[in-house]
Amino acid sequence: MTSLQLSAKEEMVERFLDAAARGNLSQLNIQLSNVPSLVNQTGYSGWTGLMLAARNGHYSVVEALLAHGCDKFSVNSSSQTAFDIAKFWGHKHISDLLSRTDDGCQRVLPGADLTQRENYFSRETLDRLSAKRTDKVWLEAKQSDSDTVYLMFSDLNPMVRSSQEDDNAEGETKLCRFRYEAVKDLLQKPATVLIFLGVEKRKNPSSSSPQTVEGVTEPPAWFAIGSDEDAAELLKRCREKNCAFPKTPHRDLLKLTEEEAGILAQARSVLAWHSRYSFCATCGSGTRPEEGGHKRSCLNPDCRSLKGVHNTCYPRVDPVVIMLVIHPDGNHCLLGRKKMFPAGMFSCLAGFVEPGETMEEAVRRETEEESGVKVGPVQYVSCQPWPMPSSLMIGCLTVAISTDIKVDENEIEEARWFTRQQVIESLLRGTSPAFIVPPRQTIAHQLIRHWIGINANL
Ligand code: ZN
Ligand code: MG
Repeated sequence: MTSLQLSAKEEMVERFLDAAARGNLSQLNIQLSNVPSLVNQTGYSGWTGLMLAARNGHYSVVEALLAHGCDKFSVNSSSQTAFDIAKFWGHKHISDLLSRTDDGCQRVLPGADLTQRENYFSRETLDRLSAKRTDKVWLEAKQSDSDTVYLMFSDLNPMVRSSQEDDNAEGETKLCRFRYEAVKDLLQKPATVLIFLGVEKRKNPSSSSPQTVEGVTEPPAWFAIGSDEDAAELLKRCREKNCAFPKTPHRDLLKLTEEEAGILAQARSVLAWHSRYSFCATCGSGTRPEEGGHKRSCLNPDCRSLKGVHNTCYPRVDPVVIMLVIHPDGNHCLLGRKKMFPAGMFSCLAGFVEPGETMEEAVRRETEEESGVKVGPVQYVSCQPWPMPSSLMIGCLTVAISTDIKVDENEIEEARWFTRQQVIESLLRGTSPAFIVPPRQTIAHQLIRHWIGINANL
């Protein structure tokens, strides 16, 4: 490239940034339609057009740049995002716009006015209709309904179809769906576990009432089947190609759509409970599934568990705190790695909440146990069901009040303070990042991203 061409390009970028800074929407649109790559170009101190528009309060320009696919998470040389800048200069309508959930990435920037955010595995795709679980007549009618959808599980993993013909790791995975005719023999087998998952949510909000209205067709019901039949035999029931029961759920179940991931989270956790809690925890007798698979009742008529309500009869959820520990200087965070992690990966510390313990206390205890670092204030960010088998990951930020690291080698191989810049490079997958961040489907990744959005300089 000659120096003349280079300066022509620089001049073009300068004109583009100038249009964004002045709020000249028509000129900006023309420039972007001619040269779409201008959208993420930076000028002085790493400022993008989005940052300049956010600084000067040009709402329609911010809107247009977002529509053209600009990266709202990029940071300037003082580690500020466009959100930080809009917030700092008091353009609330713009910071609100920038903090809104976008496309399928489910990424949200933080702030005092924290938006409700969604993590992978957490979408409520179905209406659970829990009141129908005790309605045996309704449930039986739904089982043989031709619209009803069945998902098939073997050894807690769902039958899925993958779209990838080659070794492309980003291939899409879909749950295989069955109709009553294809599974009715399985439903008769005593070892089969059947879970009522819910009904599809109505698209039209005016008819979203769970109450059945005479003459109005109900939305399709969904069930999960846990079968002990040979996996190869079960696969023969599906007419689609490329179907399988994935062997590595921690990896393979992260390739579903957000909708299907939400359904899978419920189904897999409840099936896992049935597979591990076959006998009464109170008297050791056998139990039988009830309430659409959401309860197990003891078969011993004298058992205490039959009098009153007991949590041993219902599927369990195990609360886990997962925390990003921030250094007192505001510009480092503490991440650790377990031996089982892929090479180079570091993640947030985490641990089970103990009986009689608050979430905040669990964060403080687990951080100190695993890393030797003491932490003070705890801020809840968001949570994530993790169906392996039945955790609820409670995501928090916390601030360290001591900084010396001493790891518990039984749990953690190594823990380190990473700088904000190292974290940003890892998130942006730079050429030689200091560490590898966990995949975006994990709440650890989302907590790290959330922290990056917070600016310590403001
Ligand atoms: Zn019992
Ligand atoms: Mg622990």
